[in-house]
Amino acid sequence: MAAARSPKLVIGATDGISVVPASALFRVTAQQHLQLPLDLLALPTLDEHLTSAGVLGSLPAIEPGFAGIPTFTLFNAADSPLDLPRGGPLALLRFYEVVAPKRPPPDAQRRAARTLLAVSPPTDHTPCQRHRCTACCWHTEMPLTEEDLRRLQAAGHSGFSRAVDGWQQLQLAPQGHCVFLGQGGCTIYDDRPEGCRLYPVVFDPAVGAVLDEDCPYPEEFPMADAQREQVAALVERLLQERKDRILRGGVDAHRP
Ligand code: SF4
Ligand code: SF4
Repeated sequence: MAAARSPKLVIGATDGISVVPASALFRVTAQQHLQLPLDLLALPTLDEHLTSAGVLGSLPAIEPGFAGIPTFTLFNAADSPLDLPRGGPLALLRFYEVVAPKRPPPDAQRRAARTLLAVSPPTDHTPCQRHRCTACCWHTEMPLTEEDLRRLQAAGHSGFSRAVDGWQQLQLAPQGHCVFLGQGGCTIYDDRPEGCRLYPVVFDPAVGAVLDEDCPYPEEFPMADAQREQVAALVERLLQERKDRILRGGVDAHRP
C-alpha cells in the first residue's frame, strides 16, 4: 500500500563535479539524510528535469531500515555536458508499507549484484571451459526473475528455486552446487537464468557494472556496453519483483 508522503530528494554532491561531460557515468549524492523504519520501502523516480535533459538511471529501491544519504549512479546520455546545480531536483520518493519483514537486508542492492552468479560454457572457446571452471555454480545465491521461473517451469523443471528473504534463488544440491550443474557443466544452458548469462558482469551500485572479483579469470571476459545496461536493468527488475512479493505477503510462498 502506498503511503501518502512523497518528498523530493535534491542534489547534494556529484563526484566533486558540477558539470557532467556528455556520455558519462556519474554518481549523485542526495542532500538529505534518510532513515526508513523496518516496515517502509522507498522507490525513487528520477526527476523529470533530469530525464528530459537526457539523464538515464535505474534507481534501486531504498530498503526498509535504510539509514543514510542515498547515492545513485546515473548516465548523461545527452550529446552535451550537463549542469548539475547543488540543491537542484534529483528524485521523487514514493513510500510503500511492507508486510513485517523478518529483518532488514544488510545491503539489498549489493546483495542482488554480488549474487548474480554462474555461467557454464557451451564450447572450449570460453574461459570457463578452458579452465574447466564451475566455481560460480557452487554455493550460488543467484536470484531468479519471474521470467526465469516461468521459462524453467515451462521446460518441465521443478524444485529448482528457494525463497530467501523475498528473493527467489537457485536451489542447491546437497553437495552445495546449483541443482542444474552436471558433470559436463550447466544442464540447462539454453534456458539458464538471466543472471547466469551475464556473469561475471555484475552491478555494483557504487560504480555500475563491474567484473565480479569472485571469478578467478575476470580479465578474460571483455565487458560490452550492452552488458552494462543489461545488468543494471536486471538488478532493477529483481528488486522490483522482490518488493512485489513482499507487498503480496508471498515471500515464502510455494515455488517450483
Ligand atoms: S543454472 Fe547453470 S550456469 Fe547457472 S548456476 Fe546453475 S549450473 Fe551454473
Ligand atoms: S567463475 Fe568465472 S571462469 Fe569460472 S565458471 Fe564462473 S564465469 Fe566461468
